[in-house]
Amino acid sequence: MKVKCPSCQTEVVWQTSNTFRPFCSERCKLIDLGEWADENNRIAGKPDPSQMENMTDEELFALMAKMQVDPTQD
Ligand SMILES: [Zn+2]
Repeated sequence: MKVKCPSCQTEVVWQTSNTFRPFCSERCKLIDLGEWADENNRIAGKPDPSQMENMTDEELFALMAKMQVDPTQD
């Protein structure tokens, strides 16, 4: 089964080994989480999801720690 990544519309094979499903990558998952948080909380000073696309992995992990997102959680 294939689904489209909600963030970038790339086709993704839906399989249990893809821990980021329905996203194509961890980055897209984080971008989507950022948008979700923005829509629901509207916290001032939150990073722009479009900025997250240009972040390094280190910066993303730091951001995840701040947002208290557990990357091991499915
Ligand atoms: Zn994607």
